[in-house]
Formats: sequence, structure tokens, C-alpha cells
Amino acid sequence: MEVVRTIPEVRAQVGAARARDFTVGCIPTMGALHEGHLSLVRRAREECHYVVLTIFVNPTQFSPGEDFARYPRQEERDLALAEAEGVDLVFAPSVEEMYPPDVRTTVHVAELTEGMCGPHRPGHFDGVATVVVKLLNITTPHRAYFGEKDFQQLQVIRRLVADLNIPVEVIGCATVREPDGLALSSRNMYLTQEQRRAAPALYRALQVGAAVIAKGGRGSDAEEAVRTSLASEPLFQLQYVEARRPDDLRRDDLPGPPMVIAAAAFLGDTRLIDNIVVQKELDQ
Ligand code: AMP
Repeated sequence: MEVVRTIPEVRAQVGAARARDFTVGCIPTMGALHEGHLSLVRRAREECHYVVLTIFVNPTQFSPGEDFARYPRQEERDLALAEAEGVDLVFAPSVEEMYPPDVRTTVHVAELTEGMCGPHRPGHFDGVATVVVKLLNITTPHRAYFGEKDFQQLQVIRRLVADLNIPVEVIGCATVREPDGLALSSRNMYLTQEQRRAAPALYRALQVGAAVIAKGGRGSDAEEAVRTSLASEPLFQLQYVEARRPDDLRRDDLPGPPMVIAAAAFLGDTRLIDNIVVQKELDQ
């Protein structure tokens, strides 16, 4: 496994792989790797000849007052995990490498970024969209792997890849969860023991909402069911719960699937997000 920190080094390594007709897969991450990230790596390892993992805590996707400074950075451990999964190349650039002082360009995806996390994290999706376009242009993969855990992000990336004609296949991967249902997240390590015990209530509440949709209910009824369910866990402060159409994240209040029900909620200062996509109506 090679570890490189500059863009020319990535281009040289990936260029050599492409010259051998290798299929290149890329997994962009902010590091602090867990089984969720590793499930993406394993999928890429199965599907591609040459696997590139990027580790970059992207400052532009943190809103003012968020946890950029204290976001977990564990590079040595991440590199050992990547190596064990058979990653070929790790790109772990500095902030200066990604954002030299003269950068002036930002990528903005309209509409899909306006609801859900958008209003609560000003600038977040512009930061994500811009860094993902840069990472795709730098690593030039055939396939790029993203988690459904960040469902809005996944749909924003699908949209920008189509709109900007980026020649990459975006692969969405299922959310990996703890046995009690909590979605794995690098931010779970901020939780106290008491908060950790409360944390699965978010997924449980979303399951209640998903069941409403699966039975042919409306998004607004599903949202209400999530609010009611989460209220039974007093440690949680719900930020939003929204039911939307999975493809374009539009909000209509027509009943039934397909629908994604997504929520963000705080345990103390820690903000957790999760979602469930309901594809089909359940036979009653
Ligand atoms: P992050 O390091 O949080 O930016 O995440 C990097 C990638 O891993 C993103 O595509 C995430 O959606 C994905 N990811 C994070 N947590 C999970 C999870 N629990 N299951 C599946 N994918 C995940």
C-alpha cells in the first residue's frame, strides 16, 4: 500500500494503474475509519482492480461552531486498517494541498440541498460537493463508493456527477449498524456511556416512521410518528425529521413508498443522523 500526500503523486500512481487497464475504485472519507467505511472498501476491493482510499477532514464542509477542530484524527490506525483491507493507495492530503490560497471555485447543487440537513448546516453541502468533485478529478476512479448513511449527501453526489458529466459510477452502500441498531459513525465516539445507551432510539423511531410509510401512510404522518417515538428518549433533542422522495428529495405528501425518512438529533453536543429508505409498500 502506498500513502501519498500530493496530487501529482496520486496522478502518477493512478495513471500507472489505468495504463494497465485496471478498474479504479475510490472511497472518499474523513478518516477515523470504522466498519461502515470498511464495508465500502470491501465492496470496492471486490469490484475493482485498484482501490484508492482518501482521508481528508475537509474544513469547508464544517459549519461555523461545528466540530472541525476536535473531529477525530487517527491516521496511524486508519492506515493499518486500510492496509489490512488490501487498499492500494491512500491519499491523505494537507488542507493546503487541497485548498491553495488562490482557490475561488465552489460547487453548489440546488434544491436537493435545501431541506433536511441543508438549512441546519450552512455551507455544508457546498463544501461536500466541492471536495468530492476535486477528489474525483484527482483520483479519476471508474467507481466511487458512498454510504447511504449520509443519504442526502449520496443523492447530492449522484446529481453533481450527472450534471457535470463526471465519468464515474456512483455506488451507494447500505448503512452498517451496531447490533442495537445505532448507525456507525466517527462521531459515536463523542458519546458518554449514558448517551450511547440512549442512541439506538433514533433508529427505532425511524423504524416506526418507516412502518407508517410501508403501510401506505403519508410522509407527514410518518414524521409525526418519529417525533412521538423519539420523545420517549429524553436525552435526545430532535433537530428535524423529514420524509422525502428518495430520487430527488422532493417533498410531496402523497401516501406510500418509495420514500426516505431521515432525521438529525442531538445527544448533548453530538449530532447524529440516520435514515431509512422504504422502497415498497408492505402487503397487508
Ligand atoms: P465520512 O468519513 O463520515 O465522511 O464517511 C465516509 C463515507 O463512509 C461516506 O460515504 C459515508 O456515507 C460512509 N459511511 C459512514 N458511516 C457509514 C455507515 N455506518 N455505513 C455505511 N457507510 C457509512
